[in-house]
Amino acid sequence: MKPKVYINIEGVKKNTLNLVTKAHQYGISVAGITKGCCGNEAFAKAQIEAGIDFLGDSRIENLEKLQHLTIDKILLRSPKLSEIENVISYTQYSLNTNLKVIQALSRVAVKKNVNHSIILMVDIGDLREGIWHENLNDIYNVVESIISLNGITLAGVGTNFTCFGGIMPTEENYKLLIKVADKIRKRFNISLPIVSGGNSSSLQMLYEGKIPKGITHLRVNQSIYTGIEIGEGNQISNWETEIVSLQAEIIEIQVKPSYPQGTFAIMNAFGPIKNFKDKGMRKRAIVALGRQDMNIEGLKPVDSTITVEGASSDHLILDITDSNINYSIGHMVEFNVTTYASIITAMASPFIEKVANI
Ligand SMILES: *Cc1c(COP(=O)(O)O)cnc(C)c1O
Repeated sequence: MKPKVYINIEGVKKNTLNLVTKAHQYGISVAGITKGCCGNEAFAKAQIEAGIDFLGDSRIENLEKLQHLTIDKILLRSPKLSEIENVISYTQYSLNTNLKVIQALSRVAVKKNVNHSIILMVDIGDLREGIWHENLNDIYNVVESIISLNGITLAGVGTNFTCFGGIMPTEENYKLLIKVADKIRKRFNISLPIVSGGNSSSLQMLYEGKIPKGITHLRVNQSIYTGIEIGEGNQISNWETEIVSLQAEIIEIQVKPSYPQGTFAIMNAFGPIKNFKDKGMRKRAIVALGRQDMNIEGLKPVDSTITVEGASSDHLILDITDSNINYSIGHMVEFNVTTYASIITAMASPFIEKVANI
């Protein structure tokens, strides 16, 4: 059987409801994000039911799949010039950094007789996308041009944290973004309702009530799956942590030494050889799942007596010696998928079947 990845839709709903309730309490709107599950429809619907204000994704293909859901959609990654038609067709908002792209959006919006809203990204230190916040003249020039375009509304500014540089949101750097928004409002006399203050790494600040007034919008993806905030890696109170699980099939069970026999190479196919401990003879199972299927680092066997010993491209090696369960060939072993890297690669894998557990 194909490995199966399960999304706990009730858990998604619960975490999203917790998030939306908390954010709305501070006047902050929420974009639910489907990129982690490649635009899974049941996931998107659960988030809409839980009260998200926008649906976002970084890939237009995912939003195209969800075009029938009636909610304002945001493209999170700056549109490619080659996909402008689809961006206008399937979204109402996009995060942008380039005037050339925004001009193209304007042309197509006019042609299709619709309006498209821009959230201009400002980099306040994490060094991924956005105009550098100290280059105010650049920001003003782009804003001035956007305002003059037909079919386009400048709805706000936004920033990213902990995506590249690992910079956490603080009251100080939030205020840098709020200041940019205020300066734009004053200079151009526009309302700029959206000040989008980041992603899952903002949840700790949100729960401590520390997000400064003036941040009006958050875009949250990975914590919905993990129930964990990013700053210190703590569980968020009352959030579900087991959202994604996986089953894969046992293809071999053998009793073998736990320490390899022979002369060690320096590297194996995936880098340095791990340090083996000699634990004597052990009962091992091989599961038909490997690094070509997904990032395996976040796999945690539900049977806590099993340990994951490692994996190659197609084989996952488990130590099942200490288990009370009598595993046999053909048995589906169950794992919790606990890290974002594991979750997104499993969701995108053509070798793994996706199941929304409703
Ligand atoms: C992925 C993404 C998010 C969500 O980030 P998480 O840390 O996964 O919550 C927010 N904004 C942008 C622009 C993104 O690409």
